[in-house]
Amino acid sequence: MESLNCPKCHSDDMHHSHIRNSLESFLNIMGIEPYRCYSCNFRTYVMEKGKRNDSFSFMTFSDKIVKLLWYCFLIMIAVFIGIIVVTRIG
Ligand SMILES: [Zn+2]
Repeated sequence: MESLNCPKCHSDDMHHSHIRNSLESFLNIMGIEPYRCYSCNFRTYVMEKGKRNDSFSFMTFSDKIVKLLWYCFLIMIAVFIGIIVVTRIG
């Protein structure tokens, strides 16, 4: 059914991994789930892009991209809070 392959060793022995922190909870809300490769133990983040020709297509994210997304999200929240504080005081 699934055609998800490990970005590192190309094995299809990929399984859902447990959510470990707030970053991964956030990603889960965005539809990105942590996966672990049982062949080489590589951990990655996967977004299901939809079903096509009876097989799922996936988009994998490296740790770097995921962290970048997370920082962008935190900056957005900081800016948002900043705007609220400034408009309340001003
Ligand atoms: Zn692997």
